[in-house]
Amino acid sequence: MIWSFAQQVEEEIAGELQRIDRLVDRNQLKTLDAFRAERVSDAHLFGSTGYGYGDAGRERLDRLFARIFGAEAALVRPQIVSGTHALAAAFFGLLRPGDTLLYATGEPYDTLRAVIGSAGAGTGSLREFGVGFDSVELRPEGRVDLEALISRMDRRTKVVAVQRSPGYAWRRALGVEEIAEVARAVKERNPSAWVVVDNCYGEFTEDAEPTEVGADLVAGSLIKNPGGGLAPTGGYIAGRRDAVNLAAHRLTAPGLGAETGSHEIYRLYYQGVFLAPHVTGEALKGNVFAAAALGRAGFQCAPEWHEPRRDIVLRVRLGSSARLLQFCRAIQANSPVDAHVVPEPWNMPGYESPVVMAAGGFVQGASIELSADAPMREPYIAYLQGGLTYSHVKIAVLRALEEMTPKFDQMTLT
Ligand SMILES: *Cc1c(COP(=O)(O)O)cnc(C)c1O
Repeated sequence: MIWSFAQQVEEEIAGELQRIDRLVDRNQLKTLDAFRAERVSDAHLFGSTGYGYGDAGRERLDRLFARIFGAEAALVRPQIVSGTHALAAAFFGLLRPGDTLLYATGEPYDTLRAVIGSAGAGTGSLREFGVGFDSVELRPEGRVDLEALISRMDRRTKVVAVQRSPGYAWRRALGVEEIAEVARAVKERNPSAWVVVDNCYGEFTEDAEPTEVGADLVAGSLIKNPGGGLAPTGGYIAGRRDAVNLAAHRLTAPGLGAETGSHEIYRLYYQGVFLAPHVTGEALKGNVFAAAALGRAGFQCAPEWHEPRRDIVLRVRLGSSARLLQFCRAIQANSPVDAHVVPEPWNMPGYESPVVMAAGGFVQGASIELSADAPMREPYIAYLQGGLTYSHVKIAVLRALEEMTPKFDQMTLT
């Protein structure tokens, strides 16, 4: 191992690592106090069966999330299969035929395009139900174009959506401060329009969540940040009570809403969200280390190590298909599960170019665990995210560097 190189990197990033520790302290305090205020007890960790009427574990978990997110209500469900499902329930719950969904952050994340209806047909998309879609491009420096957004709103605009993390785009993630600005501007233009935030990858990366600063609803995945690496599946929605209710009636069935749904044991969800501030901190620290180490080796990263982090994704420009493949394979080879498997690029449905994915986690597809994926096209960018422990990210990145840069040790120490 090139420990001496790692040490140099860590001396450089010490201030950033400390800042993340303090962020973790504040979010851990918030989370702990939510557990205390909600009087979570042993009985809540064990759920129910069947319809789940009066499932105390489910109800308390909803209230716990609501409190952590500074929201009136929440839905936390193993039955929500992914972040896309949570967002779809929110959109279908709030929008009616004739309404328009307006994205404030340009084209939405890939999987949302089928929900909206700009990709695929015959699947019951928003478009098939007569819901319109529009989007406003971000300004060149990556901020929301408030003027354009406000002028694009009309009486049909029922939901304004904000995507916090960029997904497969080389832009910065949006800060909670900026989301607050968007919410203020939207409400000033039309107080009855809903502001919905795709919160994926953003949870616990800042002091506040969008619902604490004016967003009506947030939705996300439990196999990302808020599941703390322990939640085996699931998604969540949190926000204003009326908005959460509308999403709940869509998620289950009209009339059933949030009152039904059982699960036998909720322990991993409670324990996961308790660990989430820490685990997100580990991923953030790993992300800072990776940016500094890869940056020193000449690979451009976004964000750079000293830039503020508002999600847990690092974009790394590898420059060639060979390097990109080497990088992703090294991440896979340094995973706790399936380390012996060699990732190959494949044509995933819905993507223009073949995609290579490195994911050797305990939960299938969990991207709070260390993972890397990349579309095989110019300029060969890998998206590195997650990491249950800082140390694991550090080791995997060092091994990848050794792999990609022969004689790396001598090269960087001179
Ligand atoms: C992960 C993610 C989603 C949802 O993806 P799922 O795989 O369905 O959980 C949506 N938006 C963004 C920005 C994401 O990162």
